Amino acid sequence: MPTDSASTSLDRRVAIVTGAGSGIGREIALMMAASGAAVAALDIDGQAALQTAALIGDAGGRALGLRADVSQEADIDEAVGTAVATLGPLDIMVNNAGILDGYLDVHEMDPAVWRRVIDIDLTSVFLGCRRALREMLPRGRGRIINMASVAGLNGTGGGVAYIAAKHGVIGLTRQMAVVYGNRGITVNAVCPGVIPTGLRHHSQELLGPGLPDFARRGVAVNDDQVRALVPAGVRGSVQDIAASVCFLAGDGAGYINGHSLVVDGGWRAR
Ligand code: NAD
Repeated sequence: MPTDSASTSLDRRVAIVTGAGSGIGREIALMMAASGAAVAALDIDGQAALQTAALIGDAGGRALGLRADVSQEADIDEAVGTAVATLGPLDIMVNNAGILDGYLDVHEMDPAVWRRVIDIDLTSVFLGCRRALREMLPRGRGRIINMASVAGLNGTGGGVAYIAAKHGVIGLTRQMAVVYGNRGITVNAVCPGVIPTGLRHHSQELLGPGLPDFARRGVAVNDDQVRALVPAGVRGSVQDIAASVCFLAGDGAGYINGHSLVVDGGWRAR
């Protein structure tokens, strides 16, 4: 990746964003496209992925919406292949898709839920990185950005599967940065704090019946809890997170590798 300017322009780059059908992923896709990238928006909700691509197209950008369950190797393989064949060689891979686990502790966690959350939140990132490397290693360039969480650094912010998965994402990111740093590829993580999205609702739907109501569980469910937890006193926005991802994908971040960028209004500084 050229590093001759500190610009955040993503002109002529090709990016894939997983979980781009809503929330943080959709905003990353929109912001990258507005910065000049051609974007493949992947989501398990194929209609939502197509809507993101349509929003980009309406704004004059190049985009593709694809259904893919990122926990499935065959889905990732096919979607990345289609994206590259349609948009061009892959420059940026954003492994963003994820779900919550209902804030369950070890003694209440069903092993089947544990496995599904680890599959979607951690194994998917491994699979996305692995497939992206097939495109990036031969070219000797690329940017990989993995969506972790403050829950990847603290023993709070989720239940045990979510926290273990997000800690795993940070470990995976660091190991890859060490291994591929001399091959022109950077691998970084972003750790959002409290961001209003449909995450609780989508996670409950995707995990199916039999789990407690996610809306009532966890940290920062109301404004008083947010004020007590977050020095900024307010929730962050999807734009706050997308801007950090675009920065890590841009030319100005060429010497940043293996970093976990915390975007949390000061939560973790406590
Ligand atoms: P969201 O639910 O709005 O977006 C997540 C998207 O991922 C959804 O469109 C969903 O359909 C998709 N998805 C879920 N499972 C999938 C699968 N198996 N394959 C493909 N797509 C799948 O939630 P969000 O808040 O935008 O979450 C995005 C990422 O940010 C997640 O990794 C989440 O853990 C992380 N995060 C969010 C917050 C927050 O406060 N919202 C905080 C820290 C980290």
